[in-house]
Amino acid sequence: MKADGELGLSEVLSTIAEILRAGGVLRPILVDDDLRLVGHQEILDALKKIGAKLVPISKSDSRIFIPIESLGIYDDVSPSPMRIYRDTLELLYRGWPTPLVGLRSLSRNGLRVWAKLEGFNPYSWSIKDRIGWYMFVKALEKRGVSDVKRLIYEATSTNTGLALAAMAAIHGFSAKFYIPSSIQKASDTLLKVMGAEVVRVPKTLTIEFVNEVEEAARKEGALHLNQFENDYNFEVHLRYTAKELEVQLRHARIIPKAVIGGIGTSGHMSAISFYFKNRFRGSVSVYCVQPKEGEVIPGIRRVESGMKWIHWVGVDEVVDVGRDEAIEAAIEVARKEGILIGLSSGAVVAGFKKLLKERDLNGGDYVLVFPDHGFKYVEQFNEYFASKG
Ligand code: PLP
Repeated sequence: MKADGELGLSEVLSTIAEILRAGGVLRPILVDDDLRLVGHQEILDALKKIGAKLVPISKSDSRIFIPIESLGIYDDVSPSPMRIYRDTLELLYRGWPTPLVGLRSLSRNGLRVWAKLEGFNPYSWSIKDRIGWYMFVKALEKRGVSDVKRLIYEATSTNTGLALAAMAAIHGFSAKFYIPSSIQKASDTLLKVMGAEVVRVPKTLTIEFVNEVEEAARKEGALHLNQFENDYNFEVHLRYTAKELEVQLRHARIIPKAVIGGIGTSGHMSAISFYFKNRFRGSVSVYCVQPKEGEVIPGIRRVESGMKWIHWVGVDEVVDVGRDEAIEAAIEVARKEGILIGLSSGAVVAGFKKLLKERDLNGGDYVLVFPDHGFKYVEQFNEYFASKG
């Protein structure tokens, strides 16, 4: 079967929604006698984007129902059972799913809280490994390795930089990252160890200088994947993050009441919102957290600072969290649960606690997405301890 020009994500989003809501495919992809595609390109491309390994084809446009489970969509979630990996690339995608763990300290009679630990990704110890890998691989698929200068430029608050530095290291590229001055100093050292060049930009938010990075990359002929605009950011979370979370929850026989997470580019929470709201037909709420006005929490920012995908899908509510509240919640999780989580994860916990109080959330299962590990934030933890005497 031959497809004439793949449709973009925005063009097939409503078809993906339809498939998720129906729990399957309702029409076949139309082909002629030579198996050339003659109709319903949108179904083919929608299925590809959610990772279908099999697609229904027919020469007639009759109504069918092929359940999602029969399309090989869940084959993407295939961890290595013995945790042996051929190389450090497999370490990433065959390491998935990242753990989903119950948090006793936040749970109480009838209300159970689960955390998805994205700090278990191997390169940046964050959710950003997923987009670094996918955006990079897709760019090479499109342009071919020989067609690009082996140089990556990106504006990052650290994690995407570490993920792309890993891609650069593995594939023999060089990398240059532009980081806002508001971010911890340790990032320079970490990125340097990974082989990247670091440029500090005297601005607070990464989004403020993306255009300058685009311009510099254009001049140098460097590959600028641009996490803020690149639809593979959203797609990787649709195809992997959201889907694997559904598989994990299904195994645990849970339909969550809500998923709560932080927003930076809005890639992961937009994809999770889109996926869960369609797959569970509106029964799952999605809440996001953003920093209080004027406060910096690395990795997340306020919706009005400009983000793409959240406006495609919508979420139920965006909750404000202060920097100290985020740090205090991360410290509390460390002291009660024994795991060291990052500041944006702390913000998710603090936001969830606010929702519990203000929205009177009652029994059921709640999933908190923790984007990264706490080791990167020693400076902020130190500052906090010093400020409190
Ligand atoms: N938390 C951390 C630590 C991050 O690095 C990021 C993104 O950079 C986020 C949260 C937000 O993720 P997203 O860009 O998918 O909205």
